[in-house]
Amino acid sequence: MTSDDTLQRDLAMLDQFGRAADGAFCRLAWSPELHTSLMWLADRMSQAGLDVTLDPAGNLLGRWDTGSGTAVLMGSHFDTVEGGGRLDGALGVLAGLEVVRRLRRDGIEPARPVWVIAFMDEEGVRFGEAMMGSRAFVGEPMDPNLGARTDAAGQSLAQAMAAWDRRPERAHAAKRIGEVGAYLELHIEQGPVLEASDKDIGVVTGIVGLEAMRVTVEGQTNHAGTTPMPYRRDPVAAAAHVISSLDDAAKTGEFLATVGRLTAEGGGVNTIPRRCEFSVDLRAPTDDALSGARRKLDQLLDAIHRTHRVECRTEALYRMSPAKMSPALVNSLEDAAQQVGAKTLRMASGAGHDAMVLAQEIPTGMLFVPSRGGISHAPDEHTDARAIELAVSAFDRALRGMVQGARSNP
Ligand SMILES: [Zn+2]
Repeated sequence: MTSDDTLQRDLAMLDQFGRAADGAFCRLAWSPELHTSLMWLADRMSQAGLDVTLDPAGNLLGRWDTGSGTAVLMGSHFDTVEGGGRLDGALGVLAGLEVVRRLRRDGIEPARPVWVIAFMDEEGVRFGEAMMGSRAFVGEPMDPNLGARTDAAGQSLAQAMAAWDRRPERAHAAKRIGEVGAYLELHIEQGPVLEASDKDIGVVTGIVGLEAMRVTVEGQTNHAGTTPMPYRRDPVAAAAHVISSLDDAAKTGEFLATVGRLTAEGGGVNTIPRRCEFSVDLRAPTDDALSGARRKLDQLLDAIHRTHRVECRTEALYRMSPAKMSPALVNSLEDAAQQVGAKTLRMASGAGHDAMVLAQEIPTGMLFVPSRGGISHAPDEHTDARAIELAVSAFDRALRGMVQGARSNP
């Protein structure tokens, strides 16, 4: 059996945790399904000779404490969305573990520690706080009311954590970033670019920043027949103007804009509604471009206040600054990928990842493998085994350069 079979076998074994009949996965943050899968992962890490701890933020950390200096950390997340795929997150964790096994197999004794981590709650779908685990790991302050947040079933985060013998007010004790010198993450692309350009590996140069808000437009409910157009204060017509103009601006500009939710209240087939609420998700590769996108939205809301005589307010949902990958790691990962025969493409990530949290603190590098059909967060999520093997080999090669391993058993 080759080492590649070991990673593919791990992926096949992981299929037993949280998989529904339709093939979709559900290992939500702090759920029993995630716990069971992490206990399995802890076993696999132990078998590879790692010292394993489930930290106060629910991250599963496997440490190979050898050599001296700061650790090279590899990983991603193990939680999924509801109805997720088998690779999003899990691939990066298992790839890190696989690289450790290959170092062991080849008798490499790293000159510095090598760690593997499965971060808790990257997705943020259950309690509305994405990347909880990696944020705690780097020491970002937690929202003091986080424990009171509830999921769709009414269970609070504090209750869900208690089932794991963990407490929100202790999550900050997961901070270990001071012991880490670099972070590497392998992830599926979750988009169509690599497949469309016939590349094996994407070398991530940066991760877009994002800002999301809820916009409320208040107008005046009234009769659809007796209210002449100039007299109306129609919040839906006003919102439609904003959304369509924002879409036009994004298509010619440097940002992405998405309205994923929209509701109207107080209206009917023959009644002008009273209120329209919609979400806006803005993403851009630089802080300037992100601020520009926000300015554009504010201008459009200002304009409908005048033209449609509606009242607008915005409420922030979340914001993440853009993250730059380390130029040195971009180069060395790209070199390593090309040396193992992969066709590479430098690209920005449009999705958030734990790497963007780590990149605020330490040199970070990230590789993407192609997603068939660009699909993710769905049971059809798939990457060819060949592309996975190329990426793992590239990671292995880059990591060996970083730990300057000496052969212990020639
Ligand atoms: Zn992910």
